Amino acid sequence: MKNVDIERLKGIVGEKNIKYNEADLYIYGSDASVHQAMPSVVLKPTTIEQIQEIMRYANSELIPVIPRGAASGMTGQAVPIEGGIILDMKQMNEILEINLEDIYCRVQPGVVDDDLNKVLKSYGVFYPVAPASSRIATIGGEIANNASGVRSVKYGAVRDSVLGMKVVMANGDLLNLGAKTRVEASGYQLDRLMVGSEGTLGIVVEATLKFVPIPKFRCLGVAKFNTLDEAGNTISAIMSSGAQPSMVELMDNVAITAVNKAQNLGLPDVEAVLLFEADGMVKEAVDYEIDKIKKICEKNNGFGIELSYDAKERTRIFLGRKKLFPSLSKYKEGYACTALADDMAVPYSKMAETARKIHEIADRNNVIMSAYGHCGSGCMHTKILMNPTKKSQWNDARKAISEIYEHVQSVNGTTSAEHGIGLSKAPAFKKEKFDSLNAMRAIKKALDPNNILNPLKMQDAPDDWVTATKLRYTVES
Ligand SMILES: Cc1cc2nc3c(=O)[nH]c(=O)nc-3n(C[C@H](O)[C@H](O)[C@H](O)COP(=O)(O)OP(=O)(O)OC[C@H]3O[C@@H](n4cnc5c(N)ncnc54)[C@H](O)[C@@H]3O)c2cc1C
Repeated sequence: MKNVDIERLKGIVGEKNIKYNEADLYIYGSDASVHQAMPSVVLKPTTIEQIQEIMRYANSELIPVIPRGAASGMTGQAVPIEGGIILDMKQMNEILEINLEDIYCRVQPGVVDDDLNKVLKSYGVFYPVAPASSRIATIGGEIANNASGVRSVKYGAVRDSVLGMKVVMANGDLLNLGAKTRVEASGYQLDRLMVGSEGTLGIVVEATLKFVPIPKFRCLGVAKFNTLDEAGNTISAIMSSGAQPSMVELMDNVAITAVNKAQNLGLPDVEAVLLFEADGMVKEAVDYEIDKIKKICEKNNGFGIELSYDAKERTRIFLGRKKLFPSLSKYKEGYACTALADDMAVPYSKMAETARKIHEIADRNNVIMSAYGHCGSGCMHTKILMNPTKKSQWNDARKAISEIYEHVQSVNGTTSAEHGIGLSKAPAFKKEKFDSLNAMRAIKKALDPNNILNPLKMQDAPDDWVTATKLRYTVES
């Protein structure tokens, strides 16, 4: 890679939108994953034309470009493994249009999910993806990751909300993909291809998103279970019953203990809890769904069931789940919560078995793992709690990760439900998608022949990332 021409880049974005001192570069070298690498320069473009010019320059000089939103990605997707230009998209944060008649909005990629919803709320509608990181996650990052969230069980993932987008390609061309209509059947679905491409195929510079009416009634319930198996079986029973929950979330005992230690919430000391919600415009319809789900919980030995329509009470009941991620590091002194093997999806019928397996694998490999997540949409989250300063723990973690993904593949699950592939999950992803890697690489080569867009990620990431990439932690040898 050639040195970047700082003066030329200043000429494109202006002096105040470029950063190249070491402290700034360090901050832009990591995301919410375990990885770290220094970029050469950070640019904060404000227009599509600037991005086109940056891409033309980078393409001619073979300089990597890594688009970046809030850097809340958990697998190193936005880490500049080969250096190069970080394209910080957060300044492009305008809501361009809210079209109530045609039921879509047009936004710039740096708009934060919660900020969009604050504005949409005044029109009685919402963008329903709701990742747990919605307070910071940007629309561009959500699209590139195909994010989903607590309500995806009813409203789908990002791919179900995107109608179209504008994308700047590696050579600087601007493409208009998708449409503003509900259906579009023409040609290759290039907008779909961009969803989940983790910044490796193009820079999303505008998105057209569907929204839905805010339901008038929401009822949240919580049920306790004495065994993880019973909770897992309940998820499967709810989803195969024809019920239409707007949320089904699992928390195991590690999750419960961590939240109690960190937040002092006094959650019940049981093996698992399930949080479930139904929503709708008609109270009787919501009552019907909630009653159906409650009965399924009871049939599977769920007890101590609390239900509430009240917004404040719902916030109280949900607080433990909301505070879970930051609480996990408090579970055991000296242990950090690492986003390794952190999400996967399995068929509903394999939820109980997978949750149990996660604990067996953790015990066998000297790490602690929690099983939780948006299980209603098939998602199972884990986090590995370990001492990240010890080399032996990285070996333990690597073994645990590979056993977990072996299990996931053996039950016809998939490597990532919503947190992407990036670097950390690439080895498992490559094993799972072995028959389509060449097709993916051919697409990448056709759209980015010089391999400058977020290189060495997903299908092209190193297999042994612990040694091939720098970690954020200082590890004793
Ligand atoms: C506490 C916590 C909870 C989370 N909960 C969830 C959850 O419930 N559901 C979920 O899906 N995820 C979750 N995540 C992961 C993460 O927040 C989401 O994947 C989110 O969509 C990432 O958005 P971002 O703006 O932070 O993107 P970044 O992390 O900055 O980038 C992610 C990827 O998108 C690419 N990218 C960013 N902007 C663009 C653009 N404009 N054009 C092209 N590519 C781009 C980057 O290159 C990178 O590959 C969570 C993370 C945290 C820390």
